[in-house]
Amino acid sequence: MANINPLTALRSLKGAPLSCLVALIFANQPVGKEWLARVTGYSDKPVSSAMDYLLEMGFVTNAARTESWELHAQIRQLMIGNPELLLESTRNNSDSDPTTTALTKDNNNQEKAVAEEQVEEQEIVDNNFAESLALIKSAGIGEPMASRLARMHHINPYYLIGHILQAQRDDTNTPLLIHRLRSRDPAPRLNQNYHLVGCKCSQCFHFVYSQDKGLLPIEEFEYKSYLESVTVESI
Ligand SMILES: [Zn+2]
Repeated sequence: MANINPLTALRSLKGAPLSCLVALIFANQPVGKEWLARVTGYSDKPVSSAMDYLLEMGFVTNAARTESWELHAQIRQLMIGNPELLLESTRNNSDSDPTTTALTKDNNNQEKAVAEEQVEEQEIVDNNFAESLALIKSAGIGEPMASRLARMHHINPYYLIGHILQAQRDDTNTPLLIHRLRSRDPAPRLNQNYHLVGCKCSQCFHFVYSQDKGLLPIEEFEYKSYLESVTVESI
């Protein structure tokens, strides 16, 4: 699925899927299956199943109406260079844990201080790891991507709720939501009802008249209150 790291998934590509993927990279625009068959030399059937496979893996998107195929936005992003993805695939292939390595090097005080600082930072991250993970999963993002995202430093519950609400409002698909979260796209701000600023629902409508539009400052965000607000609404 789309939450596979494309760099890791590359090794599963050979034959028609690989040829079609390369053809799409060269095409750099939406193309049909006939075109793919012509340029790759594969016949209709292999091309069809190759495209189904690439779609399932999250490499391509398909506009059903026009029968056209193109590279997934995330893959296009990777082609212009996405350090995050590179970092992730390096981590996957290595057994050493950078935190452990740093902690064992406490030969002198300076390194010790650095290690302590890292532990402190780690704890801050752990503080909302569980909350972030729950939110990410609630948005339909599965493992291992969910944990990877939750561990990222810029990810926190406020940031996630903004993105998830926006994705729900705009009917954004999960791969694009993942892409936005990973690319540190700025999150939409929340209001005091834990809805998006500018929400037009009956509970938020009165914010129109306040100068700050009911903006909830990040430091006033409380995960518990958020959960309560969601529970009340679903009753
Ligand atoms: Zn609202």
